[in-house]
Amino acid sequence: MKKVFFTPGPSQLYPTVPAHLQTAWQDGWLSLSHRSEAFHGLYREATAAVRSLFDLPAGHEVFFLASATEAMARIVENCLARKSWHLVNGAFSERFWAAAWAAGKTAEKTEVTWGCGFDLATAVVPADAEMMCLTQTETSTGVSLPPASIEALARTYPDKLLAVDLVSSAPLVALDFRLIDCAFFSVQKGFGLPAGLGVLIVSPRAMERAATLARRRPEAGYHDFVTLKKYAAREETPETPNVLAIYLLSRVGADMERRGIEVIRREISRRARIIYDALKAGPGLRPGVAEPAYRSPTVCVADVLRPGGAGEMTGRLAADGLIIGRGYGKKRDRQVRIANFPALWPEDVAELAVKLGRQ
Ligand SMILES: *Cc1c(COP(=O)(O)O)cnc(C)c1O
Repeated sequence: MKKVFFTPGPSQLYPTVPAHLQTAWQDGWLSLSHRSEAFHGLYREATAAVRSLFDLPAGHEVFFLASATEAMARIVENCLARKSWHLVNGAFSERFWAAAWAAGKTAEKTEVTWGCGFDLATAVVPADAEMMCLTQTETSTGVSLPPASIEALARTYPDKLLAVDLVSSAPLVALDFRLIDCAFFSVQKGFGLPAGLGVLIVSPRAMERAATLARRRPEAGYHDFVTLKKYAAREETPETPNVLAIYLLSRVGADMERRGIEVIRREISRRARIIYDALKAGPGLRPGVAEPAYRSPTVCVADVLRPGGAGEMTGRLAADGLIIGRGYGKKRDRQVRIANFPALWPEDVAELAVKLGRQ
């Protein structure tokens, strides 16, 4: 039976991935030296796709890491002398906060109940915090922070660095990257690729901070920003990277550019309306985020109101080949999570919506 994955990571593969996988091994990309001219070209294409999809300013760096979780660790190691501030409203924002402590820094947090929105205009950021850390889409709860509110926060605190987790909204969220110092994602969510690659975007200002702090260390680590930049300048990575993932990112990134990122974004908004309408239609489900302004268009979370809970509901849909995610952590039995990523076909989303409306 055909299976369609509406799970928020790993997720449905982008429809062109099987053909690109075939070409990757046929053309020898997977045995090719990562110090070769051909690899340099691949590196250039993959980073160019990221630059174009996000409309990055020319001075921002694009680095490849192992995962988004690694990006959290590298950001706090490289950009902080002492202290960060975090908006914590779910499991992933908490992980970012914990990464700062793990790196020996002090991390303060403003905590919000899981599933509730937060008006960033009311945020009080401690004066001694060097960096503000946000999770644009909290995949554990389906809460998203409106891009305009993130940009407003950057303008309110122009002296502080701003780091944003874009894991389950990239490349669908449009942000003014002139205001963003660090942003990161992994490829197994919105890009519809197999897991195993993290992408980190760094502003010139954050690079400067990292270079200053690096001078205090006797040696630079292999994924310190200064080392990453040194290798990026020659279109390489310090280590032997996940060449297959970089290959697929370059190809699927180009596919998305051809489709048009604005077209894709409009399509995702249209489908989000269909999904949320379906969640409101039947008696068994209701949107997990009460305030519509904070509902993520890409990770739609619902409370399950039937006694059988999330297990029974996901089982019923899985019998029809529709795989949706269960709630995260403590919400595992009481919520379901539905990814609305570009890899999905409109017909599949429509079919799921009909079935959700009957739950
Ligand atoms: C999935 C996810 C992560 C972790 O990504 P990895 O690739 O597993 O490191 C971090 N933040 C958010 C918001 C996520 O959805």
